[in-house]
Amino acid sequence: MSSADDVLAELRALRAHDLPTHGGRTLAYVYDSGLAGLDELGAGAHALASSANGLDPTAFPSLLRMENDLVAAAARLLGGTADTAGAVTSGGTESCLLAVLAAREGRRDVADPAIVLPSTAHAAFRKAAHLFGVRAVHVPVDPVTFRADPAAMAAAMDEHTVLVVASAPSYAHGVVDPVGEIAAAAAERGVRMHVDACIGGWVLPYLRQLGVDVPAFDLSVAGVTSISVDLHKYAYCPKGTSVLLHADASLRRGHYFASADWPGYTMLNTTVQSTRSGGPLAAAWAVLRHLGDDGYLRLARDTLAAVREIADGVARLDGLRVLGTPDSTLLALATEGAEAGFDLFTVADEMKARGWYVQPQFAHETSPVNLHLTVTAANRGSEAQFLADLTASVAAARQAGPVRVGAELEEFIAALDPDALTAEQFAGLLAAAGLGEHGGGAAGALPDRMAPINALLAVAPARLRERLLLEFLSQLYRP
Ligand SMILES: *Cc1c(COP(=O)(O)O)cnc(C)c1O
Repeated sequence: MSSADDVLAELRALRAHDLPTHGGRTLAYVYDSGLAGLDELGAGAHALASSANGLDPTAFPSLLRMENDLVAAAARLLGGTADTAGAVTSGGTESCLLAVLAAREGRRDVADPAIVLPSTAHAAFRKAAHLFGVRAVHVPVDPVTFRADPAAMAAAMDEHTVLVVASAPSYAHGVVDPVGEIAAAAAERGVRMHVDACIGGWVLPYLRQLGVDVPAFDLSVAGVTSISVDLHKYAYCPKGTSVLLHADASLRRGHYFASADWPGYTMLNTTVQSTRSGGPLAAAWAVLRHLGDDGYLRLARDTLAAVREIADGVARLDGLRVLGTPDSTLLALATEGAEAGFDLFTVADEMKARGWYVQPQFAHETSPVNLHLTVTAANRGSEAQFLADLTASVAAARQAGPVRVGAELEEFIAALDPDALTAEQFAGLLAAAGLGEHGGGAAGALPDRMAPINALLAVAPARLRERLLLEFLSQLYRP
């Protein structure tokens, strides 16, 4: 046996290799309120309930109470009524999956069910289509604003359509789709409409209170039948909690599951999971109760100030611009002009060297390569430092010049059929990308500079990129 202290010391040493989750230096994946004591509250509440099992709400009524409280809080914030029903899930992806599943199950009469998605919809909906045998119909968004095109969305709906989706806002560009127009078109055809407010649901209502012109996007909009909001994003709760709301309980019925046909307990599930830890639920419940509306309003005020300061700074920065006109707390930074003379992938590496993580996003339709920033309350106060480091990173990237993928390699990639790749071709490409055998271990598996890898991935079509990165993942996950 190892002492508990030793084990925790070992864990701390492992965590030291991770990106920092606090301090505002990691501008994707993590959400930091910057408030002292909030982590400890979440951890304490998590510990109190993590052994309890949401599988049976009659055995653990505390979890039932807390889940109903979270659903009620989300409904209050997002235009719910007395009829609103919901479920607490493990995260945004699970909430989106369940919205699709419920819609498919609600239309068992449709033999070839389809969902209509703006091309900017989160990949979780593609996963849902893949898992549940539903066809995903992708509708290009406006080429300049990156908002869903309501007329094109309406035209894409047909007798197969069981669900239409809009984002509030989209992850990649931070813009809110025209929910009202899309919802009206869906309602007219008797089609369900899901609003993916996974990332915006807990901050947009507060931004509106602060005077930001936030278009109506929630259950108060006629025709919206469900909405998702992740508590582990802008509700600043520990990871593992999202809420899916339905306009009424009948719409939820399709993602409930029961099986009495085996010798064990009758399995009754509201979500994908069966055994469900009470930990994330209790942690979220505690954080919500502690912060309250006034706490979230303050956090939103700080976040908004940080977003504006960063966006203004980028506008002044020679060579970079903000893509589109973001409605929320997410920014996508692209180069100015086609021939910028530097590479954003290099800028990301330079920022990493200066202690900041910004997330590269590949080109898609009219959206060029860009750097994603998820701005949170913890970014307030360090905007000037961020902008100074960004300016220095652009200068360094200019100095280095754009990353070039050799013409030969580019031709080789263009000729590949992602569905018929051999193990040797995979190994060759991974090696060319610098993603060869790493022998497992997570820490230190990646080279310091990702620009050459990203440049190579950028010339690969999306399908090939998927195959390559899954192969890489399969190499990482080896004991
Ligand atoms: C984060 C996100 C999701 C997926 O949520 P996970 O919690 O990562 O599973 C879905 N939609 C949007 C818009 C998101 O930002």
